[in-house]
Amino acid sequence: MKGWRKRVLVTGGSGFLGSHLCGKLVDDGCDVLCIDNFFTGAKDNIVHLLNNPHFELLRHDVTFPLYVEVDEIYNLACPASPIHYQFDPVQTTKTSVHGAINMLGLAKRVKAKIFQASTSEVYGDPTLHPQPESYWGNVNPIGMRSCYDEGKRCAETLFFDYHRQHGQRIKVARIFNTYGPRMHPNDGRVVSNFIVQALQSEPITIYGDGSQTRSFCYVADMIEGFTLLMSSPDEITGPMNLGNPNEFSIRELAETVIELTGSSSQLEHRPLPTDDPRQRQPDINHARRTLGWAPKVQLRDGLKETIAYFKRTLGR
Ligand code: NAD
Ligand code: UDP
Ligand code: UDP
Repeated sequence: MKGWRKRVLVTGGSGFLGSHLCGKLVDDGCDVLCIDNFFTGAKDNIVHLLNNPHFELLRHDVTFPLYVEVDEIYNLACPASPIHYQFDPVQTTKTSVHGAINMLGLAKRVKAKIFQASTSEVYGDPTLHPQPESYWGNVNPIGMRSCYDEGKRCAETLFFDYHRQHGQRIKVARIFNTYGPRMHPNDGRVVSNFIVQALQSEPITIYGDGSQTRSFCYVADMIEGFTLLMSSPDEITGPMNLGNPNEFSIRELAETVIELTGSSSQLEHRPLPTDDPRQRQPDINHARRTLGWAPKVQLRDGLKETIAYFKRTLGR
């Protein structure tokens, strides 16, 4: 149909990943409705889209019902960093669980396809390495991270029960650590912390001995994975790991950031937070096989873009 545009709802659309997703969807010719309660999101992240007639912003909290007409829903609303999700843990669980129920109820009514931003945290502190989707995880149900981990696990349960019970089209992505421009400068995540500290010539804070590992995916690669999963055939429901399998120790990351910023910062050790996973690396064979997707951006290249962004926002 001439002039027809897919109507896409993005919850948490003014956050780090959500704002990049909104931009890509508008570029791809969709009509985008971004909803956000601005708990961790920022208008600055989407200000460049506000004058676009194919972009609409609504202040709304996903724990309340929402009645709109859309074709696809990306459910990203949820604080993602420990500092933010532990600030009001009850609200975090409500956002994941009530938010999933409301968005699934909406998707059911309008027959929309719905994507869930799940997380590698559903694996907890994994006893299997790397983690395939078939691994059930090792999660503490009553710890400081549980509001996030168990909230996301329950959201996955809801997605699969709505799928089995009502035949809904679902797409569940398990996202591993992602970084890039528009990360929050002070949300305590390791990439933003190290870059901000290096640019301000402050000590680089390594928790524990820095031998714990993470695998970091650049945001553009991740967003491509989201849209490929969403447009995959209906029988592809996930859960599907999305992330970069290249693994680095936290100490290596610190050294690379110091090198790329040319900073004079020194390394400083701090206590390791409770339940901090030792090792994390996605097994992305499922995504490779079914979507033909794999990350392309090397850590050093992604870090350069992210450093340039923080230099601009910090005025350095
Ligand atoms: P973010 O904090 O930048 O974005 C989350 C957005 O959701 C924010 O704009 C926030 O204001 C909004 N929000 C929070 N509670 C809400 C509510 N009740 N109603 C409406 N909006 C609400 O985080 P992000 O890194 O962009 O993460 C996006 C999604 O991806 C989250 O669901 C997160 O759990 C998931 N995820 C992210 C990563 C990562 O490395 N960034 C890893 C795994 C999973
Ligand atoms: N809901 C919504 N928008 C809609 C349809 C439903 O926000 O367009 C919410 C509504 O609050 C409801 C929830 O989704 O409580 C779950 O809907 P569902 O139809 O599964 O359950 P029910 O309405 O029977 O509780
Ligand atoms: N970390 C660190 N220094 C910091 C922030 C984080 O050493 O300033 C460590 C943290 O203990 C963890 C890793 O870096 O081992 C990744 O932390 P982040 O909070 O970014 O992500 P997550 O633990 O959720 O993977």
